[in-house]
Amino acid sequence: MASPSLAEAAVLRNVSGFSFSAAAGPLPDEVAADVAAACRAGRGSVLSLPFTSPAFRALQEETEACLRRLLAIPDRFRVLFLAGGASAQFALLPLNLLGTARQASYVDGGHWSRRAIAEARRYAEVSIAVQASGRIPDVGEWRVDPRAAYCHVTSNETADGLQFRELPVLPVPLVADMTSDLLMRPLDFARLSLVYAGAQKTIGTPGLTLVIVDERLLGRARPETPRVMDYAAQAAADSRLCTPPVFPIFVAHRMLHWIEARGGVAVMAEAARRRSDAVYAALAEGAGTYVMPVDRASRSHVNPCFRLADEAQTALCLQAAEAAGLHDLRGHPDVGGVRVSLYNGVADAAVDALVAFLRAFARRHGLRAA
Ligand SMILES: *Cc1c(COP(=O)(O)O)cnc(C)c1O
Repeated sequence: MASPSLAEAAVLRNVSGFSFSAAAGPLPDEVAADVAAACRAGRGSVLSLPFTSPAFRALQEETEACLRRLLAIPDRFRVLFLAGGASAQFALLPLNLLGTARQASYVDGGHWSRRAIAEARRYAEVSIAVQASGRIPDVGEWRVDPRAAYCHVTSNETADGLQFRELPVLPVPLVADMTSDLLMRPLDFARLSLVYAGAQKTIGTPGLTLVIVDERLLGRARPETPRVMDYAAQAAADSRLCTPPVFPIFVAHRMLHWIEARGGVAVMAEAARRRSDAVYAALAEGAGTYVMPVDRASRSHVNPCFRLADEAQTALCLQAAEAAGLHDLRGHPDVGGVRVSLYNGVADAAVDALVAFLRAFARRHGLRAA
């Protein structure tokens, strides 16, 4: 083989150490090895598996069945395997769900809510049910427009480190962007009408977006909705109206079975709580060095975010972390600071190394009382 190109070299540079990237969750070693083995050359490789084959149908059915078991999805919900990323859903939700209504209600909890709101405003009259900045107001304080076709919430604000630990009971259908916490918490589908998530953070690899939708919401799409983006049309065609994202479905299949073998979503939720508690405890111990902007009860179990008390130390902290093999900790560009992402595939050893680093950095560089 030829020597690696610049792009390949850039990917290969960070093979040692641990990634805490918010944008992509690591695959557990066993899953990655299994996927790599399936990417062989020639016939029978997952890379050229025809979506029309019985083998792919079986793969999709098993993936859906495992997802249904893990999340206890009721029969009246349909599972769609779509492309286009979670961001495509920001437009597809109003296109598919408004029906004869014009209004949609959105919770503004941070960066991703605002992206969803901006896109929905192109199609709907959007009102803000509640603003959650660093703290989630009690549901009694929410103002959900009763005319709204649905109310949208971003269950875990990936960029801000704020998580809706409990989803509310609302008088209109609740729609949740769960791109950064699907399969990291149990769900109560009595409260939910639609859940969607890009797969790249908690379920595997980019290219697949899951939409889990109550069939009572189907059939309301605006006539100009692209057919391949019409939930009812895709549901009727078992998500095979066009070529579904075969490879990421294969990865999701392996990842879901890995989660199930470990005891399921309750075990993942407990691990997320334990790991984020360890990170928050280290941050609290270094209170002179670190500042946690999110109220304790609303802190994410998935993406702990913090700032340095002396903002000028942010670059130093990130550099020292890199040197210690702890990568991809820079906060979201719109938010700044430092962000830790603890998706299902992150190894315990990575969390232990990070916690030790946070303690050592606070000891060495902490602000000392004058
Ligand atoms: C990452 C993220 C998105 C964007 O996902 P894409 O698949 O890149 O469109 C949307 N919502 C949340 C909560 C995210 O964390």
